[in-house]
Amino acid sequence: MKETIYLDNNATTSVAPEAFEAMTPFLTDQYFNPSSMYEQAEGPAHAVEAARASIAAFLGGVAESEVVFTSCASESNNAAIFGAIRANSSRRHIITTAVEHPSVLEVCQEAAREGCEVTILGVDEHGQLDTTEFIQALRPDTLLVTIMHANNETGVIFPIEELSRLTKETDPAIVFHTDATQSLGKLDVDLTAGLEHVDMLSFSGHKLHAPKGVGVLYMRKGVPCRPFLCGGHQERGRRAGTENVSHIVALAKACELAAAAQSDEQQVRALRDRLQAALSARIPHIQVNGEGAPRLPNTLNVACHYIEGEGILYQLCEYGICASSGSACTSGSLDPSHVLKAMHVPFTAMHGSVRFSLSRYTTDAEVDSVIEVFPGIVSSLRRMSPYWDNANNRPRPDAP
Ligand code: PLP
Repeated sequence: MKETIYLDNNATTSVAPEAFEAMTPFLTDQYFNPSSMYEQAEGPAHAVEAARASIAAFLGGVAESEVVFTSCASESNNAAIFGAIRANSSRRHIITTAVEHPSVLEVCQEAAREGCEVTILGVDEHGQLDTTEFIQALRPDTLLVTIMHANNETGVIFPIEELSRLTKETDPAIVFHTDATQSLGKLDVDLTAGLEHVDMLSFSGHKLHAPKGVGVLYMRKGVPCRPFLCGGHQERGRRAGTENVSHIVALAKACELAAAAQSDEQQVRALRDRLQAALSARIPHIQVNGEGAPRLPNTLNVACHYIEGEGILYQLCEYGICASSGSACTSGSLDPSHVLKAMHVPFTAMHGSVRFSLSRYTTDAEVDSVIEVFPGIVSSLRRMSPYWDNANNRPRPDAP
């Protein structure tokens, strides 16, 4: 099998060896249900509470009781949005953005079907929000603002500190939720300094080197939110279901490692910037989506005009390179990404977008491999493109 060059860390990450080591005893010897009464269950019960304390510290020293374990970020987002709606029957207005993950956007659409009114804020060509438009969208009947911290496709960072502060200055009763799935472990996420106006925050283990199947919903004390999963006393009645002890332990370890690795951010950013500079220099007619906005240090979304992102990905696979495209293949048709559409990325580039997402485990040699093969892949696909003039190696004069 060819060697894997994994540059799709915004999709999922490898489990850190230390996290794997920490979790295994809870899959083997210490398999007891933490809610059981006998002595053997004390180990798993203590492990869950120790993990909760460690994650509370990682989030800036919040109260342990404010950390609720879930199964993934999608669940955390569903729980936050539906929970806030159910806790407030007198208000029906929600604000979100056009570039959210489907686990926010589709939940808001579902809420609209159930009688809520949803304002979906657009973004500019850099992927940024207009703060004035945001303030104007706040209404006396707004119950919830749900806006992501960093975008999974482009890495564009939203000014959550400012948006949450403006929300609370306008009306402290509005619940402010942020999906921090992509920012946690990559940016400083401090819910006591900076993000102190955020009421609820979602994230997931598998984006920061913990396993799939565990997430967190941070719920500030007193936030009005009904439980999403009912039928059990776990998580103080806020999320029923036996705790996923091994994964919770691994998540706490992964957060500890992320805190210790914060100095690696510069290294990841330098690698990403080197990749971006090399591709921009070697390939004509490409654009970096989100380049004009603050971005996550690990994410590079490049749009190659006149070709299909899927074609690029298939060819990258030949070299063992794993990346992802901006398009989602739904029911046999290739729809361009809703994020790039919202950014008004030109038609000829929207379909040719590829996202590279690095991690602290990405090496110089891996980035070199992409720099070596990517320009050739783009040229070969352009030779097959109806928009490309092969004789002159440039776009056809009538290309859109
Ligand atoms: N939110 C964002 C921004 C994401 O990028 C993702 C996954 O890609 C999710 C939510 C959903 O995460 P999970 O797979 O843990 O449900």
